[in-house]
Amino acid sequence: MEGKDIKKTRTLLQSSENIVITCHKGPDGDAIGSSLALYIYLKKQGKNVTVIVPDDFPFFLKWLPESEHIILYDENKEIANTIINNADLIFTLDFNALHRTGDMQEVLSSASAKFIMIDHHQQPDNYAEVTYSDTSICSTCQMVYHFIDALEDINTIDTDIANCIYTGIMTDTGSFRFRSTTSITHRVIANLIDIGIDNAKIHQNVYDSNSYNRLQLLGKSLTNLKVIPELNTAYISLSAEEQNEFNAQKGDTEGVVNYALSLQGIKLAAIFKEDQNSKLIKISLRSKGDFSVNEFSRAHFNGGGHTNAAGGASKLTLEETLDKFISILPNYKKELS
Ligand code: 5GP
Ligand code: MN
Repeated sequence: MEGKDIKKTRTLLQSSENIVITCHKGPDGDAIGSSLALYIYLKKQGKNVTVIVPDDFPFFLKWLPESEHIILYDENKEIANTIINNADLIFTLDFNALHRTGDMQEVLSSASAKFIMIDHHQQPDNYAEVTYSDTSICSTCQMVYHFIDALEDINTIDTDIANCIYTGIMTDTGSFRFRSTTSITHRVIANLIDIGIDNAKIHQNVYDSNSYNRLQLLGKSLTNLKVIPELNTAYISLSAEEQNEFNAQKGDTEGVVNYALSLQGIKLAAIFKEDQNSKLIKISLRSKGDFSVNEFSRAHFNGGGHTNAAGGASKLTLEETLDKFISILPNYKKELS
């Protein structure tokens, strides 16, 4: 964090009593982990803090400390709007454009509060008083650690905060294996372990809490896996019917796209999921090397993210979306082969 931003942050924190923390729609481990870590830290500073997230988060994050206090916007609009309109300061974590909060965009845009953004995605919008944006950092959770450090409060990181930060770093780095994992990441993790977290237990909580149905759905996903060898691309599709067959829950398909990416030689992987609620096809894209799925998704699927991990959506049917994907790919033959 730059010196002037640290100074501005101190001033904003001093003059703010009511603080809201929010993250992107379809919150993942990094979004929830960073929100709760910051929540616990600010509570310790004596602030009146509320975490409001656009919609529900996966079952494998429900063990996180204080997660029971999170307000889901889509289920509590009235009370959430009141809290947001009364806020002096709003932290937006793990996203950088207000439309990423879905239905929360409207109330956030009209709120009188000042904003602080902490985020690691590309191309940040310009809505915040303090924009702490760094695309080289693996996770927003690691940034929250640096944020607390910059405010000279590293000693206030207790095991609850450490559990939250560890979880987001772990989930956003694919358990410390993606390119974004640096020596600094490992130093931060080492410090968290020294604070006293049980790292093996965190992995168990997040990765070893599968239902039988979830594994069966994974089986279905792998059966649906298709490969386009000449373009080093692999993709998976899941219709609403197939998801219903295995009673798919929020978070059940998290990480499934990585199986497509794990195929030998694959540079681009995708999963296309029919979403019954939004009537959209939700897309997750992953790549290896320099092929930017952020650019690809921005260009064709109304989304974005990082170079090697991005999301998007399509209003077409599942079949039409797959046809579109397949017909676009040859334009990238050079990059993909
Ligand atoms: P996932 O595929 O896991 O949903 O998302 C991969 C990455 O891309 C995450 O960092 C996520 O926050 C980001 N992302 C997902 N969907 C979108 C989107 O529609 N727009 C932007 N800008 N980023 C997205
Ligand atoms: Mn993240």
